[in-house]
Amino acid sequence: MIGFGYDVHRLVEGETLVLGGITLESSLGTVAHSDGDVLVHAIMDALLGSLALGDIGLHFPDTKEEWRAADSIAMLTRVYHILRHEGAHVVNVDATVVLEAPRLRPHIEAMRERIALALSLDIKRVSVKATTSERLGFVGREEGVAAYAVAQVGYD
Ligand code: MG
Repeated sequence: MIGFGYDVHRLVEGETLVLGGITLESSLGTVAHSDGDVLVHAIMDALLGSLALGDIGLHFPDTKEEWRAADSIAMLTRVYHILRHEGAHVVNVDATVVLEAPRLRPHIEAMRERIALALSLDIKRVSVKATTSERLGFVGREEGVAAYAVAQVGYD
């Protein structure tokens, strides 16, 4: 099965920017109920979507105090266990972050490691890519950060 996920968060001054479980040096950070990790949120939606299990909002309602400032990697681990409970395993994940700044390349390996660990996957099965929006649109104006992800999931 294949799943797709997409997420966006607004960027503002003075907030923390967390992507792929890594806290980045940035003057702009995400506004969110959780830690605002769009990359991990997109991956969670892709994983849930592969088995038609709804979305992140269903499993982690932002009205719930439990998920305030939540560590998204811990939420990803929770999604992994939901899949395991369904008798499924993750085959691979491929994701793209769309962000104007900072440059993500130096951090990609660390992000892949954190995501792979949460999913009990070999790092070779976790692809994280980064692109800018060429100064176009809300990402280009540094008003937000977006992420897209696909995941392949198989039954055991
Ligand atoms: Mg989100």
